[in-house]
Amino acid sequence: MTADGTHGKIRLIEENCTSCMICARECPVWCIQIDSHTEVDPTAPAQQTGRGMRPRTRNVLDRFVIDWSLCMYCGICVEECPFDALEWNGAHVAPRPSLDALSFGIDELA
Ligand code: SF4
Ligand code: SF4
Repeated sequence: MTADGTHGKIRLIEENCTSCMICARECPVWCIQIDSHTEVDPTAPAQQTGRGMRPRTRNVLDRFVIDWSLCMYCGICVEECPFDALEWNGAHVAPRPSLDALSFGIDELA
């Protein structure tokens, strides 16, 4: 939130994100884009990866974008994330010279 209590920009806490897509589905203007892939979880207990057992997999986040030219700062994504991977992070996004420049990826949202 900003100093006066209004919603500002949003921070992605990448290590908490499971690529569950809930935020993208709940966003009323569809301004969150997520790409991920699935890989075998190397931390799974041995009995879960033994012979005849299907290996346990996990989602790995490849791309997470918020398009600030569409965002309404409503906070639904922050409220709905079940893993506390989104939080308010200070002031609004400053104007940019083009619409493309208002799409922030993982690094800019960190
Ligand atoms: S604050 Fe609202 S409009 Fe902006 S990304 Fe989150 S759900 Fe979408
Ligand atoms: S709801 Fe949270 S955990 Fe799920 S994809 Fe969005 S930020 Fe990641």
